[in-house]
Amino acid sequence: MKIAAEKLISFKKAKENMLMQAKKIEQSISIPTINSLGRITAESIISPINLPSFNSAAMDGYAIRFNDAKINNSLKIHGQSLAGKPFDKNWPNGSALRIMTGAIIPKGCDVVIKQEDIKIFDNNIIIEKPIVLGQNIRWTGENIKNGDIVINSGVKISISELPLIASLGIVEINVIRKLRVAIFSTGDELKSISEKIQFGQIYDINRLAISLMLNKLGCEVVDLGIVKDNIKDIRNAVKEADNCSDIVITTGSVSVGKTDFIRNILKELGKIIFYKVAIKPGKPFVFGSLNESWFIGLPGNPVSAIVTFYHLATPFILKCMGQNYPSFLQQRYKVRVATYLKKTPGIVEFQRGFLFYNKQNEIMEVYTTGIQDSHIYASFTKANCFIILEAERGNVEVGEWVEIELFNELLEG
Ligand code: AMP
Ligand code: MG
Repeated sequence: MKIAAEKLISFKKAKENMLMQAKKIEQSISIPTINSLGRITAESIISPINLPSFNSAAMDGYAIRFNDAKINNSLKIHGQSLAGKPFDKNWPNGSALRIMTGAIIPKGCDVVIKQEDIKIFDNNIIIEKPIVLGQNIRWTGENIKNGDIVINSGVKISISELPLIASLGIVEINVIRKLRVAIFSTGDELKSISEKIQFGQIYDINRLAISLMLNKLGCEVVDLGIVKDNIKDIRNAVKEADNCSDIVITTGSVSVGKTDFIRNILKELGKIIFYKVAIKPGKPFVFGSLNESWFIGLPGNPVSAIVTFYHLATPFILKCMGQNYPSFLQQRYKVRVATYLKKTPGIVEFQRGFLFYNKQNEIMEVYTTGIQDSHIYASFTKANCFIILEAERGNVEVGEWVEIELFNELLEG
């Protein structure tokens, strides 16, 4: 089958196109809250209680009535209210109760004076500072009210959310089922990491890197291994992957070499939505659809595979996973570049850079990691950010402003 020469699509258009097509998974499951870290909420979480659920002391000190709160007034200490051991008897007007942080505010009390603001004399407190009604009291529901929406639908549960949900006594929550992603790499030269290699063979780094990133994103990975460079095996693998996943991701076999079968197979079994993006590294990227799933064909060169997965596949995957867009948008910053950058006008480049303080320790500048060729995987090891150079731009001189994007947790940590 002959493939006509395709035009390059811009990075912006490619990303927008993928996000437009992305459909959130509909199915949800109920799971224990304590196991929900990293999952996406399938519905809003509503508080069944007030938080705090009772009025309590915000300071260690003395509970009194505002009516008795006059400077130099002496109030007898009548008893105490401790966290978990409340005072539940009557206490006369003109008296005070010792109270500890987190203890229930006794009936009638509307002021807590912190212990530094009184003097003690003969089991009496003497008020030394002016007092405001309601001071040092945590009021019922001032944090969260019964019926409040605490977490929206489509939120990834992190340490900021999980303990809060659990603290409301919610033991189970509905989350979106995991996105299933099938992955295989193509290439007669490839061997799995644990196998022995012969001269001319290389280790399959892409499948490992992409699986690790998919795991970090919270996807269920179906690893279909390495598939040899022949149309029959790749076709069978695509069919198998399509049958068992929401998204099929392949690496390699997607440019214009003699054994680059992916596009023909995608045309035969489904549809190419776009092919070839005006970016470097990662131009031969293909996006399409199969009968049951989406198809993402990443280039074979490891840097290209990772850059395209990170910048194009990830936003699409997150949206399919049900995460609210644009909550996962990456922040970009403008900084000066400390080293010369080689750049060809016409396409967006995602160079690997290292953001660090300049020699005078005054401002942050970005440095190149050196050779930017798409087989230099170690450029990630030396980097902490992408330097994103606009399509129109040519070579970049020292001191010019560039846009950077710090690596997120997919590449760091
Ligand atoms: P391809 O896109 O299949 O033509 O591959 C382009 C280059 O990337 C070749 O040098 C391949 O050997 C290399 N390559 C392809 N797949 C992988 C992989 N999974 N791991 C490491 N290198 C790869
Ligand atoms: Mg290949």
